[in-house]
Amino acid sequence: KYMDECAERRRLYNELIELRGNIRVFCRCRPLSSDEVTRGCLSIVEIDPSKETELQFAPNERERKSFKFDYVFGPQKDQEVVFSETVPVVRSVMDGFNVCIFAYGQTGAGKTFTMEGVPDNRGVNYRALEELFRMSEERSESIAYSFSVSILEVYNEKIRDLLDESDEQSKRLDIKQSADGTQEIPGLVDAPVYNIDGVWEKLKFGARNRSVGSTNANELSSRSHSLVRVTVTSLHLLTGQRSKSHMWLVDLAGSERVAKTGVEGDRLKESQFINKSLSALGDVISALASKNSHIPFRNSKLTHLLQSSLGGDCKTLMFVQISPSSTEAAETLCSLNFASRVRAVEYGPARKQVDPIDNLKLKQMTEKLRHEEKENA
Ligand code: ADP
Ligand code: MG
Repeated sequence: KYMDECAERRRLYNELIELRGNIRVFCRCRPLSSDEVTRGCLSIVEIDPSKETELQFAPNERERKSFKFDYVFGPQKDQEVVFSETVPVVRSVMDGFNVCIFAYGQTGAGKTFTMEGVPDNRGVNYRALEELFRMSEERSESIAYSFSVSILEVYNEKIRDLLDESDEQSKRLDIKQSADGTQEIPGLVDAPVYNIDGVWEKLKFGARNRSVGSTNANELSSRSHSLVRVTVTSLHLLTGQRSKSHMWLVDLAGSERVAKTGVEGDRLKESQFINKSLSALGDVISALASKNSHIPFRNSKLTHLLQSSLGGDCKTLMFVQISPSSTEAAETLCSLNFASRVRAVEYGPARKQVDPIDNLKLKQMTEKLRHEEKENA
């Protein structure tokens, strides 16, 4: 009976994934900071805790607008809860799918908090790797896995290798198309990792390297895209089948629009590059979702890098990060609109019927199974 229920869960889950499509959009709203509270900023984002997929943008009654996403995390939802919803996407890289998880939003909205986290409260990157090692252990009797990581940064349409230990900070990396149609970055360091501590070392090294040559590391980090690529290679010990897949973890540059007047020189150039690559990303996702024959991957380094991990059989998860503060209303609305454009295409009329019921059913079922598992143990 237990096996039957497992099979049913798998079937339902696969169906759910299928029907929902391979692009998910999660929205996460950070708490008001203590500084914002002191300054008297009000929260303009309303989230009903009993509704897991909806939020109200409410700067005032007239402009009140409701948004739906695959999941909405309010300010009180912690890293663990966020990761528990992210983990199915993470797991699929172990089954040979390419995966891309990225955080979008204006500077200060919580992108780095979600992806990197803080030392005593780690985010998706660390937890995802932890899960991969856990699964590899669990499956070690039938599958031998190996992992490696690359860490890079895209700034002004230039790719920088953050694991490169040489002094050649200016080494230009480029993207080449390999014979099997996948993207390669010749010369990019791809460091083998054997356990979570090894990964942590690499992440710290990458972060240190990021700030080299910049007077204000925080400032630079909001103007560049930061990417971690995890390569998962597996060998099935019985069938001899091999597979290789990638998981990209991306902390995007801030999406804020720079005021049109008074910005010139480097700042203007930076923001033009950022706008270009973020809109290229939006265009690619829309084109994928509407199944266009031409997908404009080549329009930016960011989308070109991610080409084989977006679309097709890949699993894509976008976190749209927002601030609840009344002072950020305009940017928040931009981010919410961008994210619903991404999501809307995926939720075309033909796919609509699934959402809440099956999700709920699956949840109830999973709860029941968890309970039974506990009793069986
Ligand atoms: P971004 O990377 O989008 O510029 P950060 O992740 O640096 O934004 O977040 C800005 C500030 O808000 C940081 O001090 C961060 O620790 C805090 N913060 C962001 N999200 C949360 C959250 N969900 N809970 C608590 N603090 C958060
Ligand atoms: Mg950041």
